Amino acid sequence: MTRGVEPVRTCVGCRVRAAKSDLLRVVAVDGALLPDHRGTSPGRGAHLHPTAECLELAVRRRAFPRALKAEGPLDPTSLSAYVANETNANESGTEQ
Ligand SMILES: [Zn+2]
Repeated sequence: MTRGVEPVRTCVGCRVRAAKSDLLRVVAVDGALLPDHRGTSPGRGAHLHPTAECLELAVRRRAFPRALKAEGPLDPTSLSAYVANETNANESGTEQ
């Protein structure tokens, strides 16, 4: 367990900085974007708020290929299914 300063990452969707634990780590595997909920997959990761808004922004800006240094387009299907699921799971969604 680490104490003290929590690592901060920038969301590739809204570009807001947030605690790493509030963001979902996303990795690219075989040209597809996959959620890395345990944060343990090797290689490059992009960080995203697990919300449909941030995912859409990131896809629209092509932020994933840039952040993950991917050559071609990345398929967001699995990731958007995961995010949709997360969003439904906690109805109160937005923290205000
Ligand atoms: Zn965001």
